[in-house]
Amino acid sequence: MSLFSKFKRSASAESAADPNAIFQSTRGDFKATAAQAVLLGLAPDGGLFVDPTIASRPFDVQGCLKLEPLGMAEKILSHMLPGFQDMGRLVHRGYEGKFSSPELTPLVPVGDEYILELFHGPTAAFKDVALSMLPQLITAAREAEHVREKTVILTATSGDTGKAALEGFHDVPGTGIIVFFPHNGVSAVQQAQMLTQVGSNVAVCAVRGNFDDCQRGVKEAFALVNNGEKQVKGRLFSSANSINIGRLVPQVTYYFSAYSQLLKQKKIRNGDCIDFVVPTGNFGDILAGYLAKQMGLPVGKLICASNANNVLTEFIRTGVYNKRRPFLKTSSPSMDILVSSNLERLLFYACEGDTAYVASLMKALNEEGRYTLEGKALARIQQLFDADYCTEEETASTIARLWHDCRWLSDTHSAVGFAVLDKYRRSSSFSGNPCVVLSTASPFKFPSTVLQAIGGKPLDDEFETAAALSDFTGEKVPENIARLKEKPVLHTDVIDISMLTDYALS
Ligand SMILES: *Cc1c(COP(=O)(O)O)cnc(C)c1O
Repeated sequence: MSLFSKFKRSASAESAADPNAIFQSTRGDFKATAAQAVLLGLAPDGGLFVDPTIASRPFDVQGCLKLEPLGMAEKILSHMLPGFQDMGRLVHRGYEGKFSSPELTPLVPVGDEYILELFHGPTAAFKDVALSMLPQLITAAREAEHVREKTVILTATSGDTGKAALEGFHDVPGTGIIVFFPHNGVSAVQQAQMLTQVGSNVAVCAVRGNFDDCQRGVKEAFALVNNGEKQVKGRLFSSANSINIGRLVPQVTYYFSAYSQLLKQKKIRNGDCIDFVVPTGNFGDILAGYLAKQMGLPVGKLICASNANNVLTEFIRTGVYNKRRPFLKTSSPSMDILVSSNLERLLFYACEGDTAYVASLMKALNEEGRYTLEGKALARIQQLFDADYCTEEETASTIARLWHDCRWLSDTHSAVGFAVLDKYRRSSSFSGNPCVVLSTASPFKFPSTVLQAIGGKPLDDEFETAAALSDFTGEKVPENIARLKEKPVLHTDVIDISMLTDYALS
């Protein structure tokens, strides 16, 4: 029996009566508790799990803003994932000793702007904030649901999720993890981070295709298991991608943390609205900001920043989502995505829970490669979201400007955020609110592009370039990247995209 069939049976009778079954699918009325949603990853109808009550359930924002980082995480996670026992213990286990900053995600002023540095975790990208927690949530959910089968985490990565998930799940009892990344589609440092991963329960596989292919393959694998086409004994599948609600929820914390740090630094008064600029790919990070606002955090606008793959810019401005366009490889590979999964969650909220409508849009996207959102739903999105994108040249010149004017060393993704902030400030939709740019990765994950941008000379080898970047700027290479060069490569599999589901399920 699959986990899905187990939950399906209870979904109608018990779960309907279970006050903790607050999650439902974006595409239908399948309901689940937080623990079930985290274990399933994707809803059985292919939809994503959402909590339709998030804006109406009262949350103590003021109390939350007064708490220290771990206390804040505990309060937010307990509220958003009701039913988990002892969240405080899970949060401590997830984060204690793993981040090099006591704030976990420190807010620093840069020029007239603020940067929320999200890259001080074990793999130097913002994904660590969620993926340090997710193994704790999955382990606790397995206990709560009396799951005996092994939980296999299927992960598609555009570069950073893979390593952060491997770091979180390696050697966690009762789990296994398989990571698929686009062959020649991630940075050399990102690739080395994944290929040198140790652990008795890990597999890492390059796929001849792009991130969208990997993500679609993983979703297909889920579908094959859920509709019984593929029998897998003794294993249940879940996801470490932001399609899993357990991946998104921990990210809500740093929006609150940013606000609380601005209050502490006396940059804002309590109640002031602030805007966030979010370098976006799969729409997970920015959706966490939307959820924070739904819970009552004074968020003004959320600005969706894209690289040259500007499908989201067009969508937010016009309502047309069109994935039929060239897939461009840029210097910000973690944002090279044309199918942004989490947008489906925003659609659900924007059309007030009309699941049949969301399902029809997703069907159109799948079959025709596009859909158009109109009317009130689009207006609701445009009221809160703004969007822009930048070119490769703008990314490079922004890295140069931030370094030369502000002595802040930016990675390529964060630079996309800054370039878009510049455009937003000059646009007619600028709110006048203080702006926080989310900085999503360490510059040492993309040393060649960064060194070149600030006027240095990259070397043939990325690790030597990282050292050169450090010499040039006086900034320290993060420990976890500096040590990579000595580590042996442990994973060499490369497959065609057509083999992905077999690889995942065999
Ligand atoms: C994943 C990632 C992003 C995009 O985040 P989404 O949640 O997919 O929108 C941006 N920058 C970096 C460095 C990332 O790793």
